[in-house]
Amino acid sequence: MSAMQKERRMRVHNFFPGPAALPLEVIKQVQSEMDDFAGMGMSILELSHRTDQYDQVHNEASALLRKLFGIPKSYHVMWLQGGASMQFAMLPMNLLRDGQSADYIETGVWSERAITEAQIIGKARIAGSSKSDGYVRLPKLDFDPDAQYVHLTSNNTIMGTQFAEYPDTGSVPLVADMSSDILSRRVDISKLGMVYAGAHKNLGPSGITVAIMSDEMLQRCREDLPTLLKYSTHDENNSMFNTPVTFTIYVVKLVLDWIEKSGGLEAIEKINEEKAKLFYDFVDNSGGFYTCGIDKVDRSKMNAIFNLPSVDLEEKFSSEAWTEGMVGLKNLPQRGGCRVSMYNAVSVESVKELLSFMKRFMEVNG
Ligand SMILES: *Cc1c(COP(=O)(O)O)cnc(C)c1O
Repeated sequence: MSAMQKERRMRVHNFFPGPAALPLEVIKQVQSEMDDFAGMGMSILELSHRTDQYDQVHNEASALLRKLFGIPKSYHVMWLQGGASMQFAMLPMNLLRDGQSADYIETGVWSERAITEAQIIGKARIAGSSKSDGYVRLPKLDFDPDAQYVHLTSNNTIMGTQFAEYPDTGSVPLVADMSSDILSRRVDISKLGMVYAGAHKNLGPSGITVAIMSDEMLQRCREDLPTLLKYSTHDENNSMFNTPVTFTIYVVKLVLDWIEKSGGLEAIEKINEEKAKLFYDFVDNSGGFYTCGIDKVDRSKMNAIFNLPSVDLEEKFSSEAWTEGMVGLKNLPQRGGCRVSMYNAVSVESVKELLSFMKRFMEVNG
């Protein structure tokens, strides 16, 4: 067995929803540069953000994101703190003035939270909700032409649905929370007003949230807000008005390098489709032992949720899987059941390993 193979064996198959798997190559590079970054005789953890060396990391992360995601030149890229959850508040704070309203699509826990925050700030109208269906599908939509923006959750991390395509919102800008599917597939950014995503699902470790905003939308943002809560502050200061999360941005930059080396989003998208197809085909052909209650057209390619015949079996399943080196398969109590997160850094090989465990488990317990 080669050293690399041995190492792969030691590493678990990581199906956590976030923080989540990172490419082994990235982990190894972080490790190798840890005590001496760029020949500086210190770790990146110790390096001031007011240096050319950090500047380069920071700007390369933005440039690579622009290149890989095809972000038009006129769009602004900002690295923000407070998680995607902070964006739930910052977005309406910046965009809603007295009496103005925004449309929200309600598709699960994360959109509920976005709606709650927007309603604290201004008016949030529900443009469609699948709550009464238990969120097993995406809702029918009707938009208010006077809304300041339409907000949707691109991929519903906990509920297991995903917009395969985004709705046409006419002249009203669409804002997508892509926390759990950013860079998993190609997207026409020019059709969106804004994208935001926490890094710790598909982009890197926790600590940073990226926001991509059209110039038109940025121009409409309010200026009568506390400094750190204004998008314009972060835009005008290259996301360095205050100290950025330097280490996380550095790891994100390495993940972006890895995506580029892997063939970019076209290649990544193919692999993600392959993993999702393998998984759902297996579940749908398991004779009802494993079930997925989500409408087929709305199923997420990132977070597949599934059930076993009983809660007891689901408990047994996730704990036995853990013993066999397959971790993170239990969903949150808000949804219950099991979930496999198949982000970019989760290989086809890991999904195949999981399926062979699921087959064995079914033979013994079915
Ligand atoms: C995880 C997640 C969030 C919350 O992210 P934090 O960074 O923890 O605030 C928001 N939206 C979606 C879709 C998520 O998956």
